Amino acid sequence: MANNDSYKKSKIGEHSLKPETLMMSYGYNPQLSEGSVKPPVFLTSTFAYQTPEEGEESFHIMAGRKPAPEGNVGGLIYSRFNHPNVEIIEDRLSLYEKSESSVVCSSGMGAISAILLAYLRPGDVIVQSAPLYGGTETLIRKFLPQFNIQTGEFINGLDESEMLSSLRASTKKGRVAMVFIESPANPTNSLVDFAALMRVLDIIEKETGHRPISVCDNTLMGPVFQQVVPQGIDMAMYSLTKYVGGHSDLVAGAVCGSREMLRPVRATRGALGLNLDPHTSWMISRSLETLSIRMERAAQSGRKVAQWIAENPYRSAKLLHPDFIEDQEYKNVYKRQCSGPSSTFSFVLDISKAEAFRFINNLSIFKSAVSLGGSESLVCHPASTTHSGVAAELRDLFGVSDGLIRLSIGLEHPDDLIIDLEQAFKATF
Ligand SMILES: *Cc1c(COP(=O)(O)O)cnc(C)c1O
Repeated sequence: MANNDSYKKSKIGEHSLKPETLMMSYGYNPQLSEGSVKPPVFLTSTFAYQTPEEGEESFHIMAGRKPAPEGNVGGLIYSRFNHPNVEIIEDRLSLYEKSESSVVCSSGMGAISAILLAYLRPGDVIVQSAPLYGGTETLIRKFLPQFNIQTGEFINGLDESEMLSSLRASTKKGRVAMVFIESPANPTNSLVDFAALMRVLDIIEKETGHRPISVCDNTLMGPVFQQVVPQGIDMAMYSLTKYVGGHSDLVAGAVCGSREMLRPVRATRGALGLNLDPHTSWMISRSLETLSIRMERAAQSGRKVAQWIAENPYRSAKLLHPDFIEDQEYKNVYKRQCSGPSSTFSFVLDISKAEAFRFINNLSIFKSAVSLGGSESLVCHPASTTHSGVAAELRDLFGVSDGLIRLSIGLEHPDDLIIDLEQAFKATF
C-alpha cells in the first residue's frame, strides 16, 4: 500500500526508479487534493499562509536570506514566483536530466534570457558555438551588444584547439563569463565535444582566474537521448515547446542544473515575470508521461526515413543524421554523449531554392512549418526561414545551403511518410 510519502520516493530499496516510472507520480501528493489521482490545475494567483509567521519565513527563503529546506524551493507565495503545477514539472524534469534542480519558464527564449541576465554583466564576453537556434543568434549577436556585452564564437566543436584559440581571443575583449553551445545543433546535427570543452575551460580558468559558465541547449535530444548536466555542463536549457511538450500545442522552456547555479536564474525569472502559467505547466506534466515512448518511436521512424532518403533512386542526397555522418571524430563524440538520434535531421540535395520549394510543395503528409518535435511530421527550408537572418557567407560556412531540407519526424506510420517522400521526389525530379 502506498504510504503518504511515496510521491517523493525515487527508489525501492537500493533500486533507483527510472524517469519513465516517476513521470506518473513524482512530486504530487493526491492526499493534498481530495485524492485526485492527477494534479488539478491550480488556477490561483496567490496562496494563503496559515500564519503571518509562515509568510515571513517564506519571504526569507524566497529572497535567499534563509536556506530552503531540503528538496524545497520555499513555500508557495504568488504564482509569478512558483505554484504547484510548475513545481511538479520542475521536479520531474530534474529526474530526467539528472540535475539537482530545474527552473521552468514561459518559453525557451524566456529560459535563455533568464540565464543570460542572471550571469552576464556589461563588459563581459559570451562565446557561442555556431550555428545556434535563430532566436538565440539574434539575442546574442544583436540584443546583448546594446548592453555592452560582446561575443565570440567557434564553429567546429569537435576541434579542441579551435575552441581554445576562440576563447583565448575572446579574453582579450573582456571577462569571458559564459560559453553557450547547442549540441547537436539545428539543422546540421553538428556536435560539441563536452570533455574537450571542459579541458578548454580549465585552461582559461588557470590563465584568467575566472571559469566561464557552460550552458548547453539540449532541446534536440534531451532529456531522453542526452543529459548534459551529468557530463559536466553547468546548465542544460530546453525549449519545452519541442519534444517535451511534443504536440505543437504549447510554448515553454526550462533550465536544469545545481540548486546553487540556478539560484540567480530563479531570482531573475521572478523579477522579470518569466514563470510558466499553471495550465501550460499541467499540459507539460501530461506530456512528460509519454515523453520516452514518443521520442523513441519518432527516432525509430526517423532512422527508417533517413535510410530511405540515403538510398533513394531519384536524387543523390547527403544525410545530416548521426547514423550517416561518417567522420570518425563525430562518431566517437556521438557515442560518448548521446544514446540515440533525434528525429529531427536534414538532407542536402544539389538543387536550387526553387527546386527545394517545388519539392516541399509536392509533399502531402509533411506540413511546411518551422518548429520540431511535435507528433506531426514537419518539413522546413532553413535557409529561407529559420536561418534567413544569418548572413549568406555564414550560412555557407555552417552548411545551411539552399539545397538543405530539414525534417522533423513525428508519430505517423513511417511507411506512409516514405511513400509521401517518394511521390514528391518522383514529381519534382
Ligand atoms: C525552439 C527552440 C528554441 C526557442 O524556444 P521557444 O520555446 O520557441 O522560445 C531554442 N532552442 C532551440 C534549439 C529550439 O528549437
